[in-house]
Amino acid sequence: PKGPKVVYVPPPPPEEESSIFSHYATGINFDKYDDILVDVSGSNPPKAIMTFDEAGLCESLRKNVTKSGYVKPTPVQKHGIPIISAGRDLMACAQTGSGKTAAFLLPILQRLMADGVAASKFSEVQEPEVIIVAPTRELINQIYLEARKFAYGTCVRPVVVYGGINTGYTIREVLKGCNILCGTPGRLLDIIGRGKVGLSKLRYLVLDEADRMLDMGFEPDMRKLVGSPGMPSKEDRQTLMFSATYPEDIQRMAADFLKVDYIFLAVGV
Ligand code: ADP
Repeated sequence: PKGPKVVYVPPPPPEEESSIFSHYATGINFDKYDDILVDVSGSNPPKAIMTFDEAGLCESLRKNVTKSGYVKPTPVQKHGIPIISAGRDLMACAQTGSGKTAAFLLPILQRLMADGVAASKFSEVQEPEVIIVAPTRELINQIYLEARKFAYGTCVRPVVVYGGINTGYTIREVLKGCNILCGTPGRLLDIIGRGKVGLSKLRYLVLDEADRMLDMGFEPDMRKLVGSPGMPSKEDRQTLMFSATYPEDIQRMAADFLKVDYIFLAVGV
């Protein structure tokens, strides 16, 4: 019997380029940032850059920045990119929406590319070079999407883990290959505790929205993460902390997690 032919059209894979680079209007007027107050302290802070051309990015990263619609760096990017590229630890105070994510992702990706990071591949234990921590699934997912965008077309594979997605699925995604592990504190500890993620290759630890993590009661988890077996000491990793505010408990954490000569950057406060 001849019925109408049913043509199955699969949904576009999430890895499709157009969805990776789809950007929606942010409502942020970046020009108004030009006269924002910036305070940099610490010994020998590297000079700020004025354009993405000065960021020393390789061809594929430059292309991805352009495709993302970024024309000129925001203040936290102008200052943060050279600080991170110079290998310095950073405590940055900047609001959500100020462009922090690219400020840390671009120099990290550039370093991984320049050092020829091994292409990620399936393994029962993954050894990411980068761990990024944020307090909520929305925030960490945003960071992950930015990482996927900037890493597009490179051999660097970002993966995201957070509570609420199926653990089995999460673990399979991680085991497929993982250079940049993005996660909420609890899920990260869980996956490390299960022995699926080793820390021997870790070079960068990024703690985003640190003040919110404290507000949400994640300080013990963060301390546990930093003290995890195999976690490189602060001398042997580069640690980047971001926070909208700088209360005493964040200052204490900065003192505990960052090298003594860290750079303090405050944007618009
Ligand atoms: P934060 O991490 O500080 O919360 P994001 O990095 O997410 O902020 O940036 C907020 C929004 O602005 C995102 O949609 C991001 O893609 C966009 N954005 C960031 N930097 C730039 C830039 N230099 N030019 C254009 N858009 C940018």
